[in-house]
Amino acid sequence: MQGVCLLGATGSIGRSSLEVLALHPDRYRIHTLTAWQRMDELLALYQRFQPSLLVVADAGQRDALLRAGVRCEVLYGAAGLEAAAVAADSAIVIAAIVGAAGLVPTMAAVRAGKKVLLANKESLVMAGTLFMQAVQSSGARLLPVDSEHNAIFQCLEKPGAGLAEQGIVKLVLTASGGPFRSFSREQLQAVTPAQAVRHPRWSMGPKISVDSASLMNKGLELIEACHLFGARADQVEVVVHPQSIVHSLVQYQDGSLLAQLGRPDMRTPIAHALAWPERLSAGVEPLDLLSMAALEFEAPDESRFPCLSLARQAYAAGGNACAVLNAANEVAVAAFLQNETSFMAIPAIIAEVLQRVPQSPVDQLEDVLLADAQARRCARECLAALQEG
Ligand code: NAD
Ligand code: MG
Repeated sequence: MQGVCLLGATGSIGRSSLEVLALHPDRYRIHTLTAWQRMDELLALYQRFQPSLLVVADAGQRDALLRAGVRCEVLYGAAGLEAAAVAADSAIVIAAIVGAAGLVPTMAAVRAGKKVLLANKESLVMAGTLFMQAVQSSGARLLPVDSEHNAIFQCLEKPGAGLAEQGIVKLVLTASGGPFRSFSREQLQAVTPAQAVRHPRWSMGPKISVDSASLMNKGLELIEACHLFGARADQVEVVVHPQSIVHSLVQYQDGSLLAQLGRPDMRTPIAHALAWPERLSAGVEPLDLLSMAALEFEAPDESRFPCLSLARQAYAAGGNACAVLNAANEVAVAAFLQNETSFMAIPAIIAEVLQRVPQSPVDQLEDVLLADAQARRCARECLAALQEG
């Protein structure tokens, strides 16, 4: 029986994780659930799964839960998340918080040597080098939940070994292309948040849905893949595959191209990461090859979707640049979701912030957090300037 700490229990990944965990009560006990919004949903999860610890955003939320009849320990704030991530009762930590807020607790879980199921790609993007060093030195087991990286992991013959040692020439990340794949530049100027979050294949939280629409999600995933698998950026190819059936591929030097296929359903990579190196049922129907549509692949158009090149540029710059990229993107996406700026302003703001925030090395987590704060300030200034202009 393994204890599980689920960071971000009320989100899209959080809900899928709970569906898988609920199928295997003999193997996993849910020790901790955390949520920052939707307290009614957290209360219902508390009643259903009877965890020993809840973590919420503030004391007001904690008091409301206690008044509503919660009898377990309830912590709050960033310190509560960190305490939950290292608690001895949870051998497994599922990192499913969205955005930069996931960095500190995920890093704490890694440093504590947990088995970490990583959905929160932003933490690797922001602090990849430090993060992977911490995995090495603590002996943590890091398992990718992001479907593309999970697919690649499944296609590796010697996970943990270098790409050259495994005879791997390149990694191919597939991208659905998002809801605006065939939109012209003019059409992209006018798209709304409601259109952006209506993803054609996947059902996800609002932030990652916008990232998928702008292709920033694939930019973040490219950086994530470089850190996770020790790849150079030029060894990671992005291919648009609108059906989202082939979740990613690995090209070996003998000409073999290995792929993982499945329904676009996050319960599959979650179950894989939970049970690895074993396999568990995920509650997902198998693919029906005979009724499947043709599989298409095309090159991404980086002129209509500049976020992918911005991510490559930030990764090549190194130091604080990926943390700056991530923070600028989070501010711009939040503003777009609030109808405060246009979809095409997202790459414009990121490009400007990357230029304006001075480059600097990152030697510790504090350097990353500083870059994040600087970039957020700068992005808000750019936004304000756009709104005035
Ligand atoms: P979501 O918005 O649906 O859920 C986010 C969760 O984080 C919620 O439980 C929310 O309460 C919590 N949260 C929000 N802000 C917080 C804060 N400041 N501090 C602590 N907790 C906070 O997001 P999601 O779509 O489930 O995505 C979660 C992560 O998984 C993201 O990093 C995303 O990139 C990654 N991911 C998601 C999918 C998917 O299918 N949804 C696929 C691959 C990777
Ligand atoms: Mg993904």
